[in-house]
Amino acid sequence: MTDQRPDPRPTATAPDRERPIRLVLLGSTGSIGTQTVEVLAGLERAGRRFEVVGLAAGSNARVLEAQASALGVSRVALADANAPLNGLDANRVLRGVNAAEQLVRACHEDGGVDLVVGAMVGSAGLPATLAALELGIDVALANKETLVAAGELVVETARRTGAALLPVDSEHSGVWQCLNSDATGFRKPPFGCGSEVSRITLTASGGALRDWPADRIRSATPEEALAHPNWDMGAKVTIDSASLTNKALELIEAAWLFGVGTDRLGALVHPQSIVHSFVEFADRSVVAQLGMPDMKTPIQYALTGPERPIGVAPRLNLRELTRLDFAEPDDQRFPALASGFEVIERGGTAGAVFNGANEASVEAFLAGRVDFGTMTDLAREALASVGTNPIRSLDDVLEADAEARRFVESRLSPARKP
Ligand code: NDP
Repeated sequence: MTDQRPDPRPTATAPDRERPIRLVLLGSTGSIGTQTVEVLAGLERAGRRFEVVGLAAGSNARVLEAQASALGVSRVALADANAPLNGLDANRVLRGVNAAEQLVRACHEDGGVDLVVGAMVGSAGLPATLAALELGIDVALANKETLVAAGELVVETARRTGAALLPVDSEHSGVWQCLNSDATGFRKPPFGCGSEVSRITLTASGGALRDWPADRIRSATPEEALAHPNWDMGAKVTIDSASLTNKALELIEAAWLFGVGTDRLGALVHPQSIVHSFVEFADRSVVAQLGMPDMKTPIQYALTGPERPIGVAPRLNLRELTRLDFAEPDDQRFPALASGFEVIERGGTAGAVFNGANEASVEAFLAGRVDFGTMTDLAREALASVGTNPIRSLDDVLEADAEARRFVESRLSPARKP
């Protein structure tokens, strides 16, 4: 993977475009989804024209309906088949587990889609992302589970159709911005880093339990693990941050986006969350990307990069910073990180197993069925127990995901009655 050609295509949001960018937002009601709506409003004020043609959510019909009406969106999708959606034309509403994927296809048929923003949580976002890439549509991807579970398939599809995977995750946006400083210029992932890149380092805030002793971490409650010190995010990614599983998922994501192996990937704990990532080049120069811990900046870069219209995130005031700390992650207290390296090394369905087991155990933790320590043990045990196979199709990914979830369920106490 050493494609170093500059991307010949003009950026989707170049200001001289005659028509607005047609955009579909998947996961519009969540943390990334609602911030994307804010970014779009800021970009409109900066003279960039977008037309949101489709919105998808899980079950939050109230917010979905309000967004559809405020943005003048013609089509919406809701995974929940029963939640009432009264104010919208029923012909324009797609329902059920496949609704997001159907939405992408329907909007494409309506008049084309320039960009899909993938902000759904979990591997539920995979079919819609694959559908967009298959149609040759660029995807601004926050939904990291998609790449973790099926990176090989997703990247192969993007390469085949020429669609881009534009990172929204702040660390990956940082890496992308650092890489854009080299002689090869602006490129859209996925691509392979050449030998000019020596090392990519992602930073980790360390999450809510960063300074806790090992025995206390194991018995942390959902409320404690959800109290993230720097970032205001959805529940699943906040729990993943507290266990450092999020960094394991992000290492896998980086391997797919930038075509690097474990020999060129690492993570450092950086409690201030100001430096999002570093790239060390072969000449020993290290380029870092800095900014406030606010997702609106990376969301905007995914929508406009390499251009930089005025943003809506708060500005970083370097004079107010008293220090920037960096430390090696503590593998004893946070063993999840090592699984990220293991998944990259093993390839095949290892990512689908790790991701499926993690999603199931986080869900069980939030439902009070398992303690924090066992939650992280289960994802690692699944990786050790469930076999890894080559990925030939989406079915292989879905099968591995289901097997990992069954493995976790077999080790859990019965679900609590509501
Ligand atoms: P949230 O839980 O806040 O939002 C998830 C969104 O996905 C909601 O809109 C939800 O709808 C929707 N959704 C869930 N299931 C389905 C489904 N089956 N079909 C359609 N939509 C569905 O998550 P976040 O916004 O925090 O995270 C989204 C993704 O971005 C995750 O992969 C996360 O790891 C990643 N990310 C998040 C960051 C953040 O700051 N939040 C930072 C970096 C990455 P509903 O509201 O109806 O349930």
